[in-house]
Amino acid sequence: MKKAVYPGSFDPMTLGHLDVIKRASKMFDELIVSVLNNKEKSPLFSVEERVNIIKEATKDLPNVQVDSFSGLLINYAASRDIHVAVRGLRAVTDFEYELQLAQTNRQLSNEALDTVFLTTSLEYAYLSSSGVKEIAYFGGDVSPCVPDFVAKLIYEKYHRKA
Ligand code: ADP
Repeated sequence: MKKAVYPGSFDPMTLGHLDVIKRASKMFDELIVSVLNNKEKSPLFSVEERVNIIKEATKDLPNVQVDSFSGLLINYAASRDIHVAVRGLRAVTDFEYELQLAQTNRQLSNEALDTVFLTTSLEYAYLSSSGVKEIAYFGGDVSPCVPDFVAKLIYEKYHRKA
């Protein structure tokens, strides 16, 4: 059984993330999307809210599970017997960071955890969670960036109308 984890902050999940999830779910028997509980960042959505958003958005994908983790990805992956991490690459600006992360995880895990990259679909290449939050904060339209129910939740956080 081929399992993979797609880890990230997903604050919030965008259509770019969802595109990676859908494509990766076709490549593996089981895909676990796992929200990183990073206490140092001050997120817009709690971990629980982010997990629920991803659950709702992926409810029609039977081999996708949603979970959360804190600490090192390699320890989480080992605890679930997962040996592949999926990450997305939008532009060359992602590359240096992602390369370093992937190499660190491979080294630190004694080669137990490898990373595969999916290049973004071009229509989502410009999307980032932080960009979406900034657009919403200033009252712009985030409907091309996230599923409709997520847009509503984001506007609620900023006390703005959808
Ligand atoms: P992190 O804080 O771990 O970078 P993110 O939630 O921002 O978490 O992103 C998780 C992963 O999804 C990263 O590999 C990132 O490059 C990728 N990603 C983010 N936005 C997109 C997008 N629009 N298209 C494809 N991949 C994306």
